[in-house]
Amino acid sequence: MDRVLGQSQAIDLLNLQLTTGRQHHAYIFHGPVGVGKFTTALAYARVLLCHDTSTDLAGRTIACDACPSCKLLADLTPDPQSTKDDDTLGLTTAHPDLHVIRKELARYSDDANTRNRKLTRIPVEVLRSALIEPANLAPKLASGKVFIVDEAELLNPAGQNALLKTLEEPPPGTTLILVTGNEDRLLPTIRSRCMRIAFSPLPDKAIEDWCTQQAPDLSDQHHRALVEFASGSLGRAELITRYSLLSWTDAILPALDHAAQARPTADLGQQIFSFIDTFASEFVKAHANASKEAANKLAADLMWSLIATRARARLAQLAQNCAPDDPINNEQILSPWLAVIDATEQAQKHLGSNVNLSITCDHIAVALTRSLAPSY
Ligand SMILES: [Zn+2]
Repeated sequence: MDRVLGQSQAIDLLNLQLTTGRQHHAYIFHGPVGVGKFTTALAYARVLLCHDTSTDLAGRTIACDACPSCKLLADLTPDPQSTKDDDTLGLTTAHPDLHVIRKELARYSDDANTRNRKLTRIPVEVLRSALIEPANLAPKLASGKVFIVDEAELLNPAGQNALLKTLEEPPPGTTLILVTGNEDRLLPTIRSRCMRIAFSPLPDKAIEDWCTQQAPDLSDQHHRALVEFASGSLGRAELITRYSLLSWTDAILPALDHAAQARPTADLGQQIFSFIDTFASEFVKAHANASKEAANKLAADLMWSLIATRARARLAQLAQNCAPDDPINNEQILSPWLAVIDATEQAQKHLGSNVNLSITCDHIAVALTRSLAPSY
């Protein structure tokens, strides 16, 4: 687990559980996307499933690398620089007691309807056949069973309710790990039954180092833009480079500053829409079972986050000019950028309630331009 980058607090907590032998039976690993939650879950599962753990010099419980379970998971090297992809699905067959549940599993369903749907959710049928039923069977290698639900927020309320009984009375030796970038979408009844482990954004230095190694040809300006856009997520940094999303920073960030200088960009809404739509289409092409709707949401999340991150950076700069005893003037200085952050949150809500993407993009563009327009 120590090979997972920059998450020492989460990993220390898990190590403590292992060394004291007080492992919880259910966890929620929560935090931003792309900071090592899933990789840590796999590494933790590896130790839990090992038949012959030992203690290293620092007192941490480690897997033996030699038992049948460790051998089955030999290829499972936590690589902090890899973002999860469909290839980890192979794990479900490689080790009989490690089950990874994600929405893509639906393509292996016995039910043709479930198999053929383009999925934005984890269907409850998948949860039943891949978790609830196997959880009640004895482990095949006699050292427990681990179930990892990736993107657990994609379980709808029916799925989450179906999971409650397993969480309440887990079969002996069963560990459940719910991995989520959006813990708010888990029911309180689920959250209260799990031990929550928080993962934080990585420090900028970690992203800078990654960027120097993986994208050495970037200009200094793009290097800085990538670090800001990635916001502490290596997974996101990888998406940005793989899908050339620095073109977004080239167009959208100056447009924000132009709006603040009374030079609004006329077609900003359609520009935002076109960036989101192009990325989502490419993403769907590269991922066999991805739905356009889910890809649109992923792309839109990135776009709102790019805008909000820039707004926060501008707020931090402006706050330096604020006098502590002049709230009215401070409000005038800060409110345009605060309104930008509000606009991104609104846009997020609109998409969550299925407002058409193109309309949402036009709406946010108008809101941004209005918020930032200088009042003379
Ligand atoms: Zn082992």
